[in-house]
Amino acid sequence: MTAAKDDSNTEEKEKKPKKFQTPKGVNDILPRDHEYYTYLKKIIRHRCRQAGFRRVTTPIFEFTEVFARGIGEGTDIVSKEMYVFEDKAGRSLALKPESTAGVVRAYIENGMSNWPQPVELYYIEPHFRYDKPQKGRYRQFWQFGIEVIGEKDAALDAQIIQLSRLVIEDCGVYPLVELHINNIGDFESREKYAEALKNHYIGKERSLCDSCNDRLHSNPLRLLDCKAEDCKILAQLAPKASEYISKESKEYHEKVLEYLEELGIDYIENPMLVRGLDYYNQTVFEFTVTDNKGQQNSVCGGGRYDGLTELMGGVPDTPAVGFAMGLERMIELMKRENIRVPSKDNLHIFVAQLGDVAKRKCLSLISELREHGIKTVGALGKGSMKAQMRLADKFGVPYSLILGITEVRDGTIILRDMEKGKQEIIPIEKAIEKVIEVIGEKNLDTYSPGEVIY
Ligand code: ATP
Ligand code: MG
Repeated sequence: MTAAKDDSNTEEKEKKPKKFQTPKGVNDILPRDHEYYTYLKKIIRHRCRQAGFRRVTTPIFEFTEVFARGIGEGTDIVSKEMYVFEDKAGRSLALKPESTAGVVRAYIENGMSNWPQPVELYYIEPHFRYDKPQKGRYRQFWQFGIEVIGEKDAALDAQIIQLSRLVIEDCGVYPLVELHINNIGDFESREKYAEALKNHYIGKERSLCDSCNDRLHSNPLRLLDCKAEDCKILAQLAPKASEYISKESKEYHEKVLEYLEELGIDYIENPMLVRGLDYYNQTVFEFTVTDNKGQQNSVCGGGRYDGLTELMGGVPDTPAVGFAMGLERMIELMKRENIRVPSKDNLHIFVAQLGDVAKRKCLSLISELREHGIKTVGALGKGSMKAQMRLADKFGVPYSLILGITEVRDGTIILRDMEKGKQEIIPIEKAIEKVIEVIGEKNLDTYSPGEVIY
């Protein structure tokens, strides 16, 4: 008897469908976390609008070549971190690992060089990299970024740094980060510098990690960026970009610093800062977390990329500057510091009902309450009054409206203060007015999207 029972249990277990999990490094964003994303997106939209930026969205996937050419074959992103796949027609496509290459492709493809220059765009998008998952490092993550294309001036570099500072400030974490800045020169001096770096490292290969041994040949600049201890020591002794950059680049750099001072932005000149994407020249910068308590260091990185448009087949000499900020890293920093964000998800009213007629009446009442900006839920299933009130408690609503058979007959409704446990009977036609009175007009969730024009 027992054995038979056990057998059927095993059979049942086997029949149970497998539970799925997200792939490694990829997470659900649950409602609690959305409060942070919503807040961030809101301040980003606000700060960008104030500065005249317009939003752009490039596709989630593009031809692999867009990234390979734009970011550079020798970079970690292209050589190791890209999700590449073939479509049914055998074309090579890739999930976007970053957005600058795509935005520049869009600039060229949509003839934006004919728009008033500079074209100032921003994006808030998910990106995909086959990175090593850990806190602050995921395989799908969100970046907010901006690109200013079509004009070159040191003031623009300073202005975009100011924009990223404002967003960081609005999140309450500005005291926790510092701005590192460097100038890696024009393409010619960058080449010379890369050569000098190579010479510095040649003969020291055995002290380098495996990745750096690859970088030595494919992307020597990135050697300065490695987090392995031995590589860090060697990097300290390496030649500095400032020894290789031209007089013009030095002057340009000084100007950027001057403008930063004008804007009251503190910075640290960091000769080790290079940034590993091929398209950077001149200014490079990064906001990093100062204490780095187990936190991924960089929250925002950017710089100038004057050669990218030409490299991607656009008009030569189209200068550009931009940055990208990691939303997860910002949110983790905020949470670490117990910074909370305003949430509008709290409910005002729970509507409970009993009986068919009451249910029908509640349906339109709920709709009307919502129209007035009163955040309302109702248990329109079959539950008993007791079960419904338990649910109201679980939702944490401050008030409930209760419509039973007696109230329907009398044309009334009960308004219950959930905290005090007190209730009063009011005429049903006064329900909305009364609810607005108790929750306060200023707390209503009304919104005006503006009117459509026909
Ligand atoms: P890291 O050195 O930490 O790998 P990165 O130089 O690869 O950073 P960028 O390509 O400059 O990063 O991207 C800009 C920002 O996007 C980073 O400063 C970071 O905040 C965020 N970011 C980059 N990769 C990831 C990732 N795998 N998961 C979460 N955020 C990321
Ligand atoms: Mg990286």
